[in-house]
Amino acid sequence: MRASRYHLNTLKEAPSDAEVASHQLMTRAGMIRKLAGGIYTYMPLGLKVIRKVEAIVREEMNGAGAVELLMPVVQPAELWKESGRWEQYGAELLRIKDRHDRDFVLQPTSEEVITDIARNEIHSWRQLPVNFYHIQTKFRDERRPRFGLMRGREFTMKDAYSFDRDDEGAQRSYDVMYDAYMRIFKRLGLEFRAVAADTGSIGGDRSHEFQVIADTGEDLLVYDPGSDYAANIELAHAPSLLAERAAPAESLAKTPTPGAAKCQAVADLLGIPLARTVKSLVLATDPEDGPAQIWLLLLRGDHELNEVKAGKLPGLKAGWRFATESEIVEHFGCKPGYLGPIGTAKPVRVVADLTVANMSDLVCGANAEDFHYTGVNWGRDLPEPELVADLRNVVAGDIGPSGQGLAIQRGIEVGHVFFLGTKYSEALNATFLDETGKPALLRMGCYGIGITRIVGAAIEQNHDARGIIWPAAIAPFQVAICPVGWGKSATVRDEAEKLYAALQEQGVDVILDDRDQRPGVMFAEWELIGVPVRVTVGERGLADGVVELQSRRQGENVKVAVGDALAQTL
Ligand code: ATP
Ligand code: MG
Ligand code: MG
Ligand code: MG
Repeated sequence: MRASRYHLNTLKEAPSDAEVASHQLMTRAGMIRKLAGGIYTYMPLGLKVIRKVEAIVREEMNGAGAVELLMPVVQPAELWKESGRWEQYGAELLRIKDRHDRDFVLQPTSEEVITDIARNEIHSWRQLPVNFYHIQTKFRDERRPRFGLMRGREFTMKDAYSFDRDDEGAQRSYDVMYDAYMRIFKRLGLEFRAVAADTGSIGGDRSHEFQVIADTGEDLLVYDPGSDYAANIELAHAPSLLAERAAPAESLAKTPTPGAAKCQAVADLLGIPLARTVKSLVLATDPEDGPAQIWLLLLRGDHELNEVKAGKLPGLKAGWRFATESEIVEHFGCKPGYLGPIGTAKPVRVVADLTVANMSDLVCGANAEDFHYTGVNWGRDLPEPELVADLRNVVAGDIGPSGQGLAIQRGIEVGHVFFLGTKYSEALNATFLDETGKPALLRMGCYGIGITRIVGAAIEQNHDARGIIWPAAIAPFQVAICPVGWGKSATVRDEAEKLYAALQEQGVDVILDDRDQRPGVMFAEWELIGVPVRVTVGERGLADGVVELQSRRQGENVKVAVGDALAQTL
């Protein structure tokens, strides 16, 4: 590529709404341009990176035996009504009407459509297992799109769906995807961690998120430095929720969990007594009231409630207030009796849910945007540092399987693998004939990767004051040739052209900056864009028979003989 024929447009200033480095740098480098909140044009440079991420994902998916197809972005409401998600999904689902007044959605994900495909296409156990995937535009009307491509409304996802004849097969398909994801994120050159994740309303114990480690991540992860235990905090500290689904309450009471100590700690924090009659304590914030507003309620523990009402809540902080259950139910539009993280009509952020009946645990944060299955989440929009810091300390006291204290770090969720079982095949009646000729429900798994979010996450992890530092595998260009004095010197032009041709012949993705720019401007631009290797070709160097190589990451200049330039660059 010749820079003169390409479209480059770097900016000095980041837009005022860009809160994080990746958003700022992608805009400044000219990779994206905003069209509307959470909706971006992928400019040539940005699209190039996206395509590289896609290529790696596609290669590994194909290598793992998955089969690519392409499902529509616009999907009829009927299928969503069949699965029940037309009602459940909430405001994140963008609904549209056609000219005949028929309802459609812009797909946030494609379980319904793929299950419809499967029920029509798969008749016999002989066609199983099969794993279909596509890389397609998604739309989620995120309540708060932000961070550029990391939380967009329109974005690109790779989503795969496996179909098996039984649970064992489905588990194998899950493991194959898990391994493929490990390879994908290694190849992308990112520091990441696979963590156990909440299975939300679907239940079961098979769900992992792939999290890119970054301080700006919206998720909080706990891990044991001495073993391979790692979990999203929403799972690690919500065992009560999972256990409640799996086991009767009596057996739970006998199972001490690490949550008991935390329950006590949170109760201490609030200055309330922990009594077994208090079933649940929820701290909730209504985003519309602003982050400082914390609602506090006790569920199903009426006489405790009176005690609290009588003012015995010494830990009640400014901006927090006590509310009765009915008040909360009305305000948040949730179901009475259980203000769990799932099922509220209004966006409500439960920042702590303390369940004492089973001496279990502290649930950190619910996120109504995710309630279709993610269930709970913690760490978004919270009034840092106060509350989070307090809760962090509470969590940090936990001991992991190795006997060491659990550590905490922030992550960006870039992938999610999920065992679905028969949730969708049952709802849509997707069956096949098993070996005995009887109809049986298909066993499913689903596997997502946020293609465009990866681009942002990679930058969060790899940048400095001068700009982006791309991992080689997804850099828009691997090498930038920067001739100094392009307009003046035929020698410079000749050598630059020679190197350019030689690199192209080797299959290197190289850009030749033939715009005759001042060196300082040119260097700053390529540093901002983050190309891994820069080769400077100048008259002075050529007089000594050398060109200069600079690695974007290491920074120092190395002089190499003109004849060695190609070999050294590769
Ligand atoms: P989050 O918790 O960040 O909202 P999610 O759990 O809702 O993500 P999934 O339904 O698991 O997302 O979708 C699979 C993948 O799609 C995610 O792991 C993430 O990488 C990506 N993704 C989800 N929402 C967005 C978004 N708004 N913008 C960009 N990528 C997204
Ligand atoms: Mg979400
Ligand atoms: Mg999530
Ligand atoms: Mg997820």
